[in-house]
Amino acid sequence: MSSIFTKIINGEIPCHKVAEDENFIAFLDINPNARGHTLCVPKREINRIFDMDRQHYLDLMSFSYKVAKALEEVVSCDRIGISVIGLEVPHVHVHLIPINDMKDMTFQHKISMTSEEMASLAQEIGNRL
Ligand code: 5GP
Repeated sequence: MSSIFTKIINGEIPCHKVAEDENFIAFLDINPNARGHTLCVPKREINRIFDMDRQHYLDLMSFSYKVAKALEEVVSCDRIGISVIGLEVPHVHVHLIPINDMKDMTFQHKISMTSEEMASLAQEIGNRL
């Protein structure tokens, strides 16, 4: 069965898209730790990040770097935190999280945003790429 992220990539489920190229997509996390929490996802469905071949992994990191640079221009924060987990969605994704405090990286402290706020933020970040 396809992962939820494959369904997003195929357009079967909506997302607030930030960026996309031939191999990767970035969209806002539906349940963000902080404003601007973004997921960078390879279009090829792979469960564990270190099962990716080296070049594909480096390309994901390069894509994530570009998105992080745009994100930090738009969202004021101390820095962008990065995390890879995948226990909830077993399809590789890099979490980019604008952080000011360690609690922003714990995945226990969540914020709420309206769909309109998410749409406008995703567009603003995307415009910086
Ligand atoms: P992980 O697998 O790294 O533990 O976490 C998966 C992340 O994906 C969570 O932060 C969760 O909020 C996010 N997520 C799960 N389902 C969806 C979805 O349908 N859309 C979006 N945009 N994010 C999702």
